[in-house]
Amino acid sequence: MHSLPEFNLPVKYLKGVGPARSEHLKKLDIETIGDILYTFPRRYEDRRTLTPLRALVDGETSSVIARIVSISSRKTRRKDLSITEAVITDGESIALVIWFNRKGLERIFLSGQDVAFYGKIEKKYGKPQLTNPDFEIIENDDQISEFNRIVPVYPTTYGIYQKWLRKFINANIKLFLEKVKEFLPPEVISINNLMPLRDAIMQMHYPSDRDTWKKARKRLVFDEFFVLQAGLAMRRSAGEKTEDKAPVFPSSNISFIQAAREMFSFPLTAAQERVLVEISGDMGQDIPMNRLLQGDVGSGKTVIAVLSMLLAVKNGYQSAFMAPTEILAQQHFQKLSRYFESHNITLAFLTGSMNGQERKNSLQKIENGRADIVVGTHALFQEKVRYARLGLVVIDEQHRFGVIQRGALRKKGQNPHVLVMTATPIPRTLTLSVYGDLSVSVMDEMPPGRKNITTRWVRPSRIEDLKDFLRDQIKRGRQIYWVCPLIDESETIQAVSLSERYEKLKVSLGDMRVAFLHGQVAPDEKDLTMSDFEKGRIDILVSTTIIEVGVDVPNATVMVIEDANRFGLSQLHQLRGRVGRGSFKSYCFLLAEPSSIESKQRIRTMCSTENGFKIADADLRLRGPGEVCGIRQHGVTDFRVADLVRDRELLLLAREQAFRIVGNDNQLAGLPLLREEVLRRVGKVLDLVKTG
Ligand code: ADP
Ligand code: MG
Repeated sequence: MHSLPEFNLPVKYLKGVGPARSEHLKKLDIETIGDILYTFPRRYEDRRTLTPLRALVDGETSSVIARIVSISSRKTRRKDLSITEAVITDGESIALVIWFNRKGLERIFLSGQDVAFYGKIEKKYGKPQLTNPDFEIIENDDQISEFNRIVPVYPTTYGIYQKWLRKFINANIKLFLEKVKEFLPPEVISINNLMPLRDAIMQMHYPSDRDTWKKARKRLVFDEFFVLQAGLAMRRSAGEKTEDKAPVFPSSNISFIQAAREMFSFPLTAAQERVLVEISGDMGQDIPMNRLLQGDVGSGKTVIAVLSMLLAVKNGYQSAFMAPTEILAQQHFQKLSRYFESHNITLAFLTGSMNGQERKNSLQKIENGRADIVVGTHALFQEKVRYARLGLVVIDEQHRFGVIQRGALRKKGQNPHVLVMTATPIPRTLTLSVYGDLSVSVMDEMPPGRKNITTRWVRPSRIEDLKDFLRDQIKRGRQIYWVCPLIDESETIQAVSLSERYEKLKVSLGDMRVAFLHGQVAPDEKDLTMSDFEKGRIDILVSTTIIEVGVDVPNATVMVIEDANRFGLSQLHQLRGRVGRGSFKSYCFLLAEPSSIESKQRIRTMCSTENGFKIADADLRLRGPGEVCGIRQHGVTDFRVADLVRDRELLLLAREQAFRIVGNDNQLAGLPLLREEVLRRVGKVLDLVKTG
């Protein structure tokens, strides 16, 4: 609709809006005329039923239309208080209207004038009284706009009053609604039985009734999903442009099932087999794979990475495996080296902190192609690194998001397949919005034999019992994580609270080996502590959330999370995933005195399920898409009307249809209005290149 220049016109050029008002409006995200039409009420007031004055009930909020009998203002004894009093009648009985400090009102009203009022009723001495009501003078019948109907209540902010904003939006709807253009193809409107766009906008502001409002809302929700999905489909097809061919890796000459038996000595789970079929299907085509693999911690993603890399290597290409931190890169390098040992496959290692001869060697092996598999950090994609023939990039994001810029890879003259792995299960609706242009594989089954983790909420008053339990576990040879929260942005404060806890534990568990770890510990020392913990030389590791990312110590069976109410659900889930990695029974204790209902709810959710997708769903419900799973505002989930939990079905419908339409017409050349709308609404957040 905003293809017309008017709709992009800044509001400050409108009558009644100066620079100051336009600043205030900006706080409500109203910057253009288009924004005005799309600023929808946060609730409504039903003023449809007019109440006769005699029927007004004490304490209720009502609409009345009555005639002014008399009106006057007077000062009170208090200097700062004036009262304006009006007597009104509907011809049958009378009521009193009172305003405080609205001197001058008596000059606005004339006796004999009809006025609509809306406000709370108080009965004083048996007579109804309205105090500070909303009102509108009725000059002629069709002017009744804010009364006798369902009236919008908009979000307001400092400097913008409800009454003004309502008038302002109303006036602009009247001016501009006629110019709104229908951008959805007619077939989409009819298949989904959608209300025409203009009607929908009007009905969202001034609904005739609840059912019509629902239809209006459905239309606008559909629009939001459809436009986003069309944008994602366009981005996807841009990534698949035929001139950028990827190497083709037929999987006919390799049996994953057999390779798994040789390399890991266990059979694949059904989920792993299914995911491998999806991945090898992608890698068998010259369209570069762009796939997201979601699976809880411990679901066996590394196995998938290994076998995918094997496929590339067996076909004569290199694979790169990128980990989020140096520690993890190191761990993965060791693990992968063991797996590939028997296959006569050469690995190289590369991180940012490497230098000198070591670095030179790695760079050489990558460039001359002696390295089949390169493991490292972001350094893998620095400018100086040149690959002989890169065929597959695996990115282990753990819980951090940020899909790699394919452009960076293309600049290297390569067009490899890309697999991004994440241990953060995110609800499907959110995946489809944020990563909707990627293919998604889900690993929803844990390898067999996994012991479940018992999760308990422990009140701080029971901390001594907890310590007894810990002593017992340590006596059995197990190890313990004790995580303290991020109290403040400041690392220093965090470190202080942590070292307090460390000192206390050391005193009360005197015979145990206690160590600590936080962001300010020097890297060498950090590595040393970590490796001591891995080797079982430390019983209790008191740390900040830095252990959240990836460490794997099967002998650690207890995770204590202090002030657990301070953590988000997905973070609690990630932390819990550090235990239960071996064959021993594991436990997670949430030490907390939660104050809010929401934080109690979070703790209860943790105690009731280990399923990451269920936890992510709860997180989406509790906190909304902006905060869930550490996904910072991507922009794409900033819907004005749509709700990812409530409107799930519509999302699926809109996605299917948008992808079908873009599939037939990549750049929407045949649907210029739709194309325009997609670029205007999501062009920036999706980084859609304007072509054609
Ligand atoms: P993720 O990377 O998803 O956290 P990993 O790949 O590290 O998970 O696997 C977790 C543990 O489960 C590892 O010790 C791995 O050897 C084991 N594992 C993976 N797949 C299977 C399987 N199919 N059967 C048994 N154990 C498995
Ligand atoms: Mg892993």
